[in-house]
Amino acid sequence: MGKQIAWNEIDNTAAEILEASDIIWDCAETAFLETKSMKVLCDLLRKEGFEVEEGIADVPTAFKGTFGSGKPVIGFLGEYDALSGLNQVAGIAEKQAFNSGAPGHGCGHNMLGTAALSAAMGVKKYLQETGKSGTVIFFGCPGEEGGSGKAFMAKGGAFEGLDAAITWHPGDNNRADTGSSLANYQVAYKFYGTSAHAGGAPHLGRSALDALELMNMGVQFLREHVIPEARIHYAITNTGGYSPNVVQPYAEVLYLIRAPRNAQVEEIYQRVNKIAEGAAHMTETRVEIDFVKGCSNLISNKVIAKKLWENLHEIGSPEYTEEEMALAKAIHESTDKPYESIDKFVREYDTKADKQEIASHKGETLYTFILPFHERGIQGFGSTDVGDVSWNCPTAQVYVTTWAAGTPGHSWQIVAQGKSGLAHKGLIYAAKTMAGAAIDMIEDPEILVAAKEEFDDTLGGEGYLCPIPDGCRPRAIGMTKA
Ligand SMILES: [Zn+2]
Ligand SMILES: [Zn+2]
Repeated sequence: MGKQIAWNEIDNTAAEILEASDIIWDCAETAFLETKSMKVLCDLLRKEGFEVEEGIADVPTAFKGTFGSGKPVIGFLGEYDALSGLNQVAGIAEKQAFNSGAPGHGCGHNMLGTAALSAAMGVKKYLQETGKSGTVIFFGCPGEEGGSGKAFMAKGGAFEGLDAAITWHPGDNNRADTGSSLANYQVAYKFYGTSAHAGGAPHLGRSALDALELMNMGVQFLREHVIPEARIHYAITNTGGYSPNVVQPYAEVLYLIRAPRNAQVEEIYQRVNKIAEGAAHMTETRVEIDFVKGCSNLISNKVIAKKLWENLHEIGSPEYTEEEMALAKAIHESTDKPYESIDKFVREYDTKADKQEIASHKGETLYTFILPFHERGIQGFGSTDVGDVSWNCPTAQVYVTTWAAGTPGHSWQIVAQGKSGLAHKGLIYAAKTMAGAAIDMIEDPEILVAAKEEFDDTLGGEGYLCPIPDGCRPRAIGMTKA
């Protein structure tokens, strides 16, 4: 069987891949600063005979590795960015940093990129041994966290010409994703006023901080009059200083606007802009609207998702050691507010049989079962830049258990488990699942025909319109300028 070639290759190269995952965990570089992590992955690609192109689509830490020729062209998407402030000792079930305040892999992207690369290596071996037509591309996608790196890559045309894109995300359960996520824009509103002595000459001052507060108040009233699925979050990133006796000449607030579709985000964004301008008008200050990044809603391709789900079953969930189960239990017990994945799935699945099957696993501290295939798909209220890839070609992703049941997202617990056997076994399981689905598509062209039909139907003639305006550049977290 063709797939066995890829699966054997993934097993044979597992030591190298797991080492790479651990090294990237150590590097823990945040959005668009991932130079060391990128080098780890690029070196592996070159060693494997992939043709590597760095800095694609004008994003310095984006890259791709290509192998093979002809159709179909299948892309694997890999991430490798970390989160700020989540530094944590590996392998323990208590919060303890070894470099307080430093970044950590709190979303498991050390596993994400390396598993996608492992899948690409498996498919490469399969193409080599069988001599079949096909091109496999590993996409190094930086800055997923707060950066929407893939949207910048999509704007530069990186995903054009793909027949399918496959990716995964580490998680606390095994399932094929058929759901959607929200599109978003992240925008900085920068208010410029006039400084003055707040006691001596307040009448000469024009407060940027007042403008910011009025803007937030305006948006507060707006929230009742937008579609219920929309989310409007904010963070005040600059209050203008620590001195109440100075009229603040500068203040800055960062908004994150989400809605199910790009056009809805755009509409809310225009309304938020009016409020910002109104606040500036009221206070005789000036506002600068600085678009930071945006990403599109996710369109999961169910045809490909089904193939991923079948491969999850065909391969089967890994066996875990007592030590791994003990870590999962300890981590599970360390969460005072465990993430409610099982309860959520029970609510969201449609049939009684599915609900009962899922509910029967409640109380387990490591979910090793595979969730039923969910035809309708769940509307997620977060966002992912995989969305921008999904508007360019049929795209699907799988979730694989790499951490304890109930592990909260973006937490020290994820970092703590990132080098464990749970992480390593899940990573390899994900790699095999993605490679298996890709080979199914190479061996049976009908799958890609059906996937493309579904893609065209879902888009209904609407083309991809990248939410990022011309001239907007990717920027590292916390940077006010690109
Ligand atoms: Zn994340
Ligand atoms: Zn993530």
